[in-house]
Amino acid sequence: MDSRNAYLFEQSQHLIPGGVNSPVRAFKSVGGVPLFFKRGQGAYVWDADNTRYIDYVGSWGPMIAGHCHPAVIAAVQDAAAHGLGFGAPTEAELEMAELLCKLVPCIDMVRMLSSGTEATMTAIRLARGFTGRSRIIKFEGCYHGHSDGLLVKAGSGALTFGQPSSSGVPAEIAALTTVLNYNDVAGLEQTFDEIGKEIAAVIVEPVAGNMNLILPKREFLDALRTLCTKHGAVLILDEVMTGFRVSLQGAAGYYGIRPDLVTLGKVMGGGLPAAALGGRHDIMQYLAPIGPVYQAGTLSGNPVAIAAGLATLKLVQQPGFYERLNTLSRNLAAGLQQAAHEHNIAFSAQSIGGMFGIYFLSTPPTSYTEVMSSSKEAFNRFFHAMLNKGIYMAPSAFEAGFVSYAHTDADIEQTITAAKNIFSTW
Ligand SMILES: *Cc1c(COP(=O)(O)O)cnc(C)c1O
Repeated sequence: MDSRNAYLFEQSQHLIPGGVNSPVRAFKSVGGVPLFFKRGQGAYVWDADNTRYIDYVGSWGPMIAGHCHPAVIAAVQDAAAHGLGFGAPTEAELEMAELLCKLVPCIDMVRMLSSGTEATMTAIRLARGFTGRSRIIKFEGCYHGHSDGLLVKAGSGALTFGQPSSSGVPAEIAALTTVLNYNDVAGLEQTFDEIGKEIAAVIVEPVAGNMNLILPKREFLDALRTLCTKHGAVLILDEVMTGFRVSLQGAAGYYGIRPDLVTLGKVMGGGLPAAALGGRHDIMQYLAPIGPVYQAGTLSGNPVAIAAGLATLKLVQQPGFYERLNTLSRNLAAGLQQAAHEHNIAFSAQSIGGMFGIYFLSTPPTSYTEVMSSSKEAFNRFFHAMLNKGIYMAPSAFEAGFVSYAHTDADIEQTITAAKNIFSTW
């Protein structure tokens, strides 16, 4: 086999289900052989065959400062040299807690964990413990990690494989999750009218990034806040993707919406496993060891992960960071859209902060149904054509894209030129 990627994938499939440790990585929906990466630097990644790509996945979000940023690597090396973990509190966690409480609106107290899945799973349990209610509301196509009650009509890999509701989730557990349409105020109002007193929490991606990118309607965000308050339900903003991505204050800050609980991950770990659950003081008081809702983690607040996160959060606080990220992703979206329009291709693109969405639709979608009506075949063809030109985008039509501070104007230009060439013979 002449390709090292192909060889590694072939071997991996014997030992790892699908050859990957997270489903979307397998390229199943776009077809072909997934890339095995060996190195990243700034905006670029190199695969096992030493081919260089401009990276618009960024480890699915964390690499907001680019790969191997010297400040992050130095912080990790320093932390590692002091011990990889103690299973006991460290001063760095206090520093992280102070920072999260300062930067993220509505976080009075915070608990650190190791993955976004843990953060959302615990947020739901905490909301149930706090309210004494069982039912939750989520939105179709939103992804909140892979815990049972949240893997109902979910986005991301679950959506990519046409399996939004996983086998192995007992019907009794799924029955406690009511699934509504994103951006649908009437549906939300009706559900609250019917079962408002039973709802412990509404969990939502304030900008949906796991069914491609869907921006929230203003009235949708307002209705979420108003209805949760009126009916005593906990509003959980899942900002695992959007936190420190759409702005320094996340989507909550960007849209000025006040959640009761917030979940964070991805960027806050700087590439290592770190996540957080924070929010209102009175709710956070319900967490063990001071409250009755149990949660724990051997690796929670791991010093190396926290060091990577702190170093990354230091970088994003530099003046102009988000302005630059904004400009890069806006130019990319505008350039791609114009390239397609020059050849009369039904294609649109949009961005918010450091994330963007591309769609084989004439206007950006505002609902799950609209996203699903886009051509997967067109996306897959585009994906592989871009890959051939050294541009690595998410291997699914239902994932948002990410730019980093390390991307240059020349990288964006090169990406748009690649798309122009592809569209010219579309
Ligand atoms: C990635 C993601 C998660 C899950 O985080 P993991 O660290 O992969 O467990 C949860 N919610 C949202 C919005 C995400 O984008």
